[in-house]
Amino acid sequence: MGINTGNFKNLGNSYEEGSNAALLSAIARSAEELTSGKGWPDGVNDLLAALGRATGVSRVWIFQTIAVTDTHITQNYTFEWAAAPRYKQLGMPMFSMFTNKIERPEYRETIQSRLRGEWQKIVTNQLQPGWLRDSQEIQKIKSMLTIPVMVENQWWGTLGFDDCERAYDWSDVEIALLKTAGYLISNAVLRDRLSAKRRQFSILKQLTDSSVWEFDFKTGQIWCSPELLHSVPVPTENIRFSLHQALHMIHPEDRRPLLFSVRKYLEGNRQKVFRFDMRLFTDCGDLRWVELIGNTRSNEDGKPEQLAGILIDIRKRKREEERLREEAVTDPLTGVTNRRLFEHRLQEFIDYSINEGTIFTLLFFDIDHFKKLNDSYGHQAGDQGLRHIVGICESQLRRNDLLARIGGDEFALLLPATNQDTAVTIGKRLIRAVESTPFKFEANTHHMTISIGLACNEDRLTTPAQLIEIADAALYEAKQNGRNRLATLTGCIIR
Ligand code: GH3
Ligand code: MG
Repeated sequence: MGINTGNFKNLGNSYEEGSNAALLSAIARSAEELTSGKGWPDGVNDLLAALGRATGVSRVWIFQTIAVTDTHITQNYTFEWAAAPRYKQLGMPMFSMFTNKIERPEYRETIQSRLRGEWQKIVTNQLQPGWLRDSQEIQKIKSMLTIPVMVENQWWGTLGFDDCERAYDWSDVEIALLKTAGYLISNAVLRDRLSAKRRQFSILKQLTDSSVWEFDFKTGQIWCSPELLHSVPVPTENIRFSLHQALHMIHPEDRRPLLFSVRKYLEGNRQKVFRFDMRLFTDCGDLRWVELIGNTRSNEDGKPEQLAGILIDIRKRKREEERLREEAVTDPLTGVTNRRLFEHRLQEFIDYSINEGTIFTLLFFDIDHFKKLNDSYGHQAGDQGLRHIVGICESQLRRNDLLARIGGDEFALLLPATNQDTAVTIGKRLIRAVESTPFKFEANTHHMTISIGLACNEDRLTTPAQLIEIADAALYEAKQNGRNRLATLTGCIIR
């Protein structure tokens, strides 16, 4: 004898309608369809039809519970199968998204019982006279069975069987089988919710350029979805690593601060979301700025079990932050360091020279008769004249020299590891370069010169104010002594 095989679709079709075997096979077929076939909502319609035919009732329906309060319940009649058109109720206004008051004790008890996940069966002519019996008789229902559909421990809705022809008393086996059908529906709801969430999540990921990640405290394992881990998008599954491997994907300077922040976050009340900006190496070794956002999931004792969240690409934000930082310390007209950063750097130069016993020199220089340029050719010519001077200086300077515009036509030049003699040479070279490079504006040629004041910390000047005061005074001397020259603290005027 060969092996008998077959699909579930036709299984049980030969059973007598109304028998438990027919019901069981209807549920088996629907389970197949709901899990791997049509799913939500078409599979549910088919399930109701299969159950209706197998049980021989007049109508099978699902009421979805929309909201329940102490006083009211809102429901929606969402699915129905009717054995004949006369039994149809779906689409009747009174059943579509309707709210009932919960006043009558019998009704309240019915709802409470469904909330607890209990089934109910009614044979109308066995009911006490009253509201419920009236209601059943108006709808011409001779018997009814309801099975609550529970989703994630909540009363999601009710699966109901109305018989308008028979005063039928459902057996325990039938009820147990129909309860299984209820589970099928709740699984379909869950799967539908999950796939909706997955869709939303994938939209969110696309919109934000992000990956999802999770760290398990018990196993020390991390998984992360691949989006931000690759330089070029590669469709792969989530990637798993150990904490050690994950740390190696992070820029060395960001590793300790990250661990420190996580520790601080876990020690705190963990109410807020954890956030950390860091640089991540992608699979090609490129560095990418990302923000790690997450929070903890705790067990019943409140002990954190997982830290999970998303990883967002923040390269744009970092570029913008960098631009703003640059802007805050840069002179917009000439692009050199502004006064603010200059003062900060001057203090750093002083601190460094005190600690390391090195020397440096500060030059102050100011354009001679700059007003004349403005007055003769206009403010725009003046602006270009300032850029012209900066251009000359930059071509003369060394990599570590710092040029700053400290106001109007006045500049400062910080020369690290430079004694007074060398600084004088550099200053003279600057004077010559400016003098010998005519400034051309439109059809005009203008000869510009500068005067320089010099202060060197060889002279035991240890505060920014002292250095600035000396350089300023020396600059004044250079101006007084005919301009286009350099002066030192000692009053030495050099041309
Ligand atoms: P001195 O040789 O004594 O330095 O004479 P000066 O004409 O250069 O006099 P001073 O340094 O006092 O004048 C600087 C002028 O620079 C005054 C101001 O109108 C002009 N100025 C300041 N900032 C700017 C600017 O951003 N653009 C332009 N075009 N001119 C500026
Ligand atoms: Mg000037």
